[in-house]
Amino acid sequence: MSTWIYTHEACLDHRPGPHHPEGPQRLEAVLSALRAREFNDLRWEQAPMGSRTQLERVHDPDYIDAVREAAPEQGYSLLDAGDTIMSPGTWEAVMRCVGAACAAVDAVVDGRARNAFCATRPCGHHAERDRAMGFCVFNQVAIAALHARHAHGIRRVAVVDFDVHHGNGTQHCFENDPDLFFGSSHQAPFYPGTGAASERGVADNVLNIPLPRGSGSDAFRRHMRQDMLPALERFAPELLIISAGFDAHELDPLGGLAFTDEDYAWITRELMAVAAGSASSRVVSVLEGGYSLEGLATGTAAHVRALAQP
Ligand SMILES: [Zn+2]
Repeated sequence: MSTWIYTHEACLDHRPGPHHPEGPQRLEAVLSALRAREFNDLRWEQAPMGSRTQLERVHDPDYIDAVREAAPEQGYSLLDAGDTIMSPGTWEAVMRCVGAACAAVDAVVDGRARNAFCATRPCGHHAERDRAMGFCVFNQVAIAALHARHAHGIRRVAVVDFDVHHGNGTQHCFENDPDLFFGSSHQAPFYPGTGAASERGVADNVLNIPLPRGSGSDAFRRHMRQDMLPALERFAPELLIISAGFDAHELDPLGGLAFTDEDYAWITRELMAVAAGSASSRVVSVLEGGYSLEGLATGTAAHVRALAQP
């Protein structure tokens, strides 16, 4: 069984403007890295469109309608105070993001794929139940977690988010459900301002690891080893979803942590080991942020190399 990559060319057609950091060139960098000869064994899949039913497990129906109606025929429209922008291709792009994450859950849970990575954009972890935020329109990892529950009867799902930003939308969706776990390492203080260590969820099912600017590999690995991995093992997920952002990479122009490619390989292997213990090795990873094209490409390659390691 191989690692499956879900993507779709529509994800290149979300165009928030030439000066916006979350541009199509990000996905082009990821796809070109994953097309290297060393990745010949990956299996490529077209991301289907997500469904209204999948969206409504996380998002307010009025918000979904508002996004649909905001999609411009030309030019741009704004979904929030200014950094989440729609272009004519955005609706299909975000629906492919949702469809990819849910189809990846199907393939992994059905045992067709060993694990899966969704090479899709825009990111989703800041999206709240009823609003867009921080480049994110729909929260594809939260949607995928609830899809696993409703379509496959999987009760306990964990999301681990190593993007440099806190995944506020995912945490808010998960924090009141003791069968969902959200764990995040992120820079703090930093956007979006949430993610204090004191935010623990209703059943200690939220674990935040805020890291000061300048923290690097040693701090990341120490906190993951001491706090995150034991908490995950105690939670014992039946499915592990990764919010794989690469903006904590040392080359990233927005983030101020200094993670290396080897850190991404290391945490991927550690998370796979947890999934091997309680989740029959079921891992679905979804691309979030990452704004250095080089750091995004090499970080993603290190992550997928570890996912695909025999
Ligand atoms: Zn980010």
